[in-house]
Amino acid sequence: MRIGAHVSTAGGLDKAVDRGLALQAEAIQIFGSAPQSWALKPHPPETISAFRAKAADAGVSDAVFLHGVYLVNLATENEVNLARGIDSLVYYLDLAGAIGAKGVIFHVGSHKGAGFDAVLPQITAAINEMLRRAGNDAWLIIENNAGQGNQVGGNFREIRRIMDSVASPRMRVCLDTQHSFASGYDMATEAGIAATMAEFGSEIGVENLVAVHANDSKTPLGAAADRHENIGEGYIGYEGFRHIVGHPVFRDVPFLLEVPGVERQGPDLENMGRLKSMRAARSE
Ligand SMILES: [Zn+2]
Ligand SMILES: [Zn+2]
Repeated sequence: MRIGAHVSTAGGLDKAVDRGLALQAEAIQIFGSAPQSWALKPHPPETISAFRAKAADAGVSDAVFLHGVYLVNLATENEVNLARGIDSLVYYLDLAGAIGAKGVIFHVGSHKGAGFDAVLPQITAAINEMLRRAGNDAWLIIENNAGQGNQVGGNFREIRRIMDSVASPRMRVCLDTQHSFASGYDMATEAGIAATMAEFGSEIGVENLVAVHANDSKTPLGAAADRHENIGEGYIGYEGFRHIVGHPVFRDVPFLLEVPGVERQGPDLENMGRLKSMRAARSE
């Protein structure tokens, strides 16, 4: 189990690897562009080669993930926004290929009341188009969401139905511990985690789990709110994370922190240390 974090690319893509090193991260996740914007500016080739060289030196080459922009909504009824979302994810998949990232983690979006069945064909067509246009082997990784309102992908059944509908070997899944908890999957008790991961296994298949967003939760079980907390300081708590880290399904899956940080500056050495000490305790 590699333990890593989301890191900023401010100053250039390769700077993210420097920040990862400072956190002693064994895996990193980055944005390829400003996450609250549609703007996509190309990264200069020298930045891309610097990224690859630094990632190799840092030993994280095989554990780099991109996270798509937050504006993407493949379930939207707005055709302009749908096209923007597709273009954005194509750009991200191409970038993943260029920098040697495993793939692109993204949120499917919201159907705004239309219902999952009504939007599934559009989501399927959008994903098929992206995979066709970005013709490399980078994964497209669906992240489960916190189950707010009309979000698509808050339960494992919907994710499985998208994967079945697309039927591409490039589809994978990222499990966010906070989002799972918020959407009603108990990640705070040993029995709850066992039941959650058994359901994940039967619906999605554990072989499709390629990343975990390791975040504690500011809000209680089933609160349907996307509110990350530092490891051990939220409703999942130290006990919950000890059981998560110890669960066999996660044994070889990279953990990526997206926590506020003790100093509210994002993932930090303290949160990294908490997960690493749980991992050390597990292997005894
Ligand atoms: Zn996440
Ligand atoms: Zn979140």
